Amino acid sequence: MSEEKTKLSDTLLYQKKSFYEIFKPGAPEITAAQEYARGYMSYMDASKTEREAVVASIALARANGYREWKLGEPLKAGDRVYYNNRGKNLFVIAVGSEDINNGIRFVASHIDAPRLDLKPCPVYEDHGMGFLKTHYYGGIRKYQWVTVPLALHGVVVKNDGSVVDVVVGEDDSDPVFYINDLLPHLGRADEAKPLGSAIPGEKLNILVGSMPLYEEGEDKPAADGVKLNVLKMLNDRYGITEEDFISAELSIVPAMKARDVGFDRSMIGAYGHDDRVCSYPALTALFESEDSVHTRMAILADKEEIGSEGATGMQCELVLDLIDALAASLGGASAIIRANSKCLSADVTANYEPNFPEVFEIRNSSIINCGVCLAKYTGAGGKSSTNDAPAEFVGWIRSVLNNAGVVWQIAELGRVDAGGGGTVAKYLSKHNIDTIDIGVGVTSMHAPYEVIAKADLYEAHRAFKAFYLA
Ligand code: MN
Ligand code: MN
Repeated sequence: MSEEKTKLSDTLLYQKKSFYEIFKPGAPEITAAQEYARGYMSYMDASKTEREAVVASIALARANGYREWKLGEPLKAGDRVYYNNRGKNLFVIAVGSEDINNGIRFVASHIDAPRLDLKPCPVYEDHGMGFLKTHYYGGIRKYQWVTVPLALHGVVVKNDGSVVDVVVGEDDSDPVFYINDLLPHLGRADEAKPLGSAIPGEKLNILVGSMPLYEEGEDKPAADGVKLNVLKMLNDRYGITEEDFISAELSIVPAMKARDVGFDRSMIGAYGHDDRVCSYPALTALFESEDSVHTRMAILADKEEIGSEGATGMQCELVLDLIDALAASLGGASAIIRANSKCLSADVTANYEPNFPEVFEIRNSSIINCGVCLAKYTGAGGKSSTNDAPAEFVGWIRSVLNNAGVVWQIAELGRVDAGGGGTVAKYLSKHNIDTIDIGVGVTSMHAPYEVIAKADLYEAHRAFKAFYLA
């Protein structure tokens, strides 16, 4: 028999390999990735806002033995708890058996996604059509949001303090909502406009009715009857008035559900893969790393898409309070814990796009199905506003992933000076915590309906699990 010869090209060259080159047809890993995707898709259908993602994540945590914990309550080794920050940001914590001063393993992702928020005074009518005014949240290409079915999600806080949950447009029997666009026949002047200005923000108005209300005893429609009818129906169903919109968080999101994409069902289309495609694996990996001696924390942050601001964003110092609470309960020192902690900033990157190769640099791009993407830095221009993980930490995580047989690749977001982006990485690393970006490659990121590969999702789960256990 011929001896296996090691080729120089095998030992010297870094070559990205597809999940489907490593796992051949019939391999159990392919079935496992398909099965894992099913759980993710039902999580996605239940999680179209950060509030809904918190509810869905708490349900998963409770099913895995986690209980609610509040600041001021003691913690001990073996505790499995979650901290719910205002219903919009969740910390899921497994207290390990080792000395807390050895540090915490963080996986920090975000559960908010680009969308259209309702303005405080949203309802109006114009020439027989009832509309809601919106203010977009996060980076969107506005032209993508017209003429697609839309749903309304959120909460209304009434004057008496009671909170009403609103979801319209998800059940097959529900109505959906819509943003009007111009017909091509009359679009001649529009055709020449750049994409960015073709649909200005103030044209993202939601069509919500066209049937006017009659006041009692009247034989013609009331003035502003369409608006009034919309408000009447909202009052009948939710007991709310126009002023209640002022203390509401109502968002317009795509009405589409998560679906398999492609004849081979190798991909998933859904709204808001960025960044729930990292949040779900951060949780499942936490639940499956019970053998770890480390204290582990999955962070599901809000407000990443608008700069991680506010009390539910990653710039909030709550994370320091949680570390302090662990230190106080377990006899550690916060500064030592942070110095010894490690963090994966789990966020998506852009898949190389064969239809737009001009904004990618192929040698350093995420290729679909080549596994979870490690990113040393994000940012824009000359690495502006990025964590830029130290080589030593990149080396450590690289060997963790290799030793666990995780399919992974290195990636930059795109071509230098083509644009850029950021993540929560810099808000963790500023607390003296070693942090690196890692996540799933997304196709058409920030579009109403994004696409990811099931293999890459599954490898994110395996990567986070290896990290919690290492
Ligand atoms: Mn993101
Ligand atoms: Mn994003």
